[in-house]
Amino acid sequence: MTGRTGRGVVLEEFGEPLALREFALPPAPDRGMIVACGYGGICGTDLHLKQGHLPIPTPLVLGHEGLGTVRELGEGATHDAVGAELRPGDSVMWASSIACGTCPPCRLHREPTLCENRRTYGVNRSTLDGPELSGSWADHIVLQPGTTVVKAAEGVDPLAAMSLACAGPTVVHALYERRPVRLGEVVVVQGSGPVGLAAAAFAQLAGAAKVIVIGGPAERLDRAAKAGIGDVHLNIADAADQEQVLNEVRAATGGQGADLVIECAGVPRAVAQGLTLARRGGTYLVIGQYTDAGDTLINPHQIVYRQLDVIGSWAFTGAHLVEYVRLLPTLAARFDLASLVTPFPLDRHADALAAVADGSVMKAVLTS
Ligand SMILES: [Zn+2]
Ligand SMILES: [Zn+2]
Repeated sequence: MTGRTGRGVVLEEFGEPLALREFALPPAPDRGMIVACGYGGICGTDLHLKQGHLPIPTPLVLGHEGLGTVRELGEGATHDAVGAELRPGDSVMWASSIACGTCPPCRLHREPTLCENRRTYGVNRSTLDGPELSGSWADHIVLQPGTTVVKAAEGVDPLAAMSLACAGPTVVHALYERRPVRLGEVVVVQGSGPVGLAAAAFAQLAGAAKVIVIGGPAERLDRAAKAGIGDVHLNIADAADQEQVLNEVRAATGGQGADLVIECAGVPRAVAQGLTLARRGGTYLVIGQYTDAGDTLINPHQIVYRQLDVIGSWAFTGAHLVEYVRLLPTLAARFDLASLVTPFPLDRHADALAAVADGSVMKAVLTS
């Protein structure tokens, strides 16, 4: 096992260009495995990590979403999370985080997504702690014992599987644990990035009567419409008069407002708007404000007058990734997920990040 190496894209200094570095590839850890990555997704969160907006240790190999091929199984690593036998050569996806199992949220509140000590590939696994290859923007990743690994959905294009790799499980958590979409509901989704499209697609799958997507720019909404995601698409990003667009949204709901409004915009001021788009007695589900982007003004009377349930949802666990993978054949049959993805080779990571930052791609995936 000597002489093996792997390459990974490393964040060395906040705000500086990333570097493709070579590292020794250790043997597979007991009950863990080495995976040849193949696909490493770029998530909006990664742009914030790169700029130092979140307190993370550096240097580290980035990438918390991945799909790849099992190269080597460690002692005792025999089955995936749903009990399917694993062999080298199998295509797998893995959950980004491992919850500690002992902190109050894990042990007492039954909410491992809120674990105070979770270890996350590509986020808080510094190369100094080893193994260095602990992110998915790499040709290999070392998966530790306790990682939720699941065989990739058979017959689904890996790019389709990667289209909602982080957004899909995030929305599964929100809709399964926080507030489900009910049959025949009118749903408004704020935001047309991957999280917004995941929310819209799942709402359609769950039997919503109508899904109205508000977002922008126009190309993003066109891409969503072409992929079959959402029934009505309204561009608020490029609108001169936002209030007029909000009135169009209300009209599209039938005039009363939506049964459920799902915030996936990540922009604080979207919250004040979203509160006014729900019907009286409706629900406002807030998923998009994952990064602290600051304060905003809201009118709290809207919450009481409309008697809203306002619900937050944070991240996901391995169980939600497994559910996303289970749903992928159904999702991919109904929506053109692969069309949302632009692949970039690993050594073009800078171009890929620039394209995500300027919004010219919906979803960038590094391939190796
Ligand atoms: Zn992510
Ligand atoms: Zn914990």
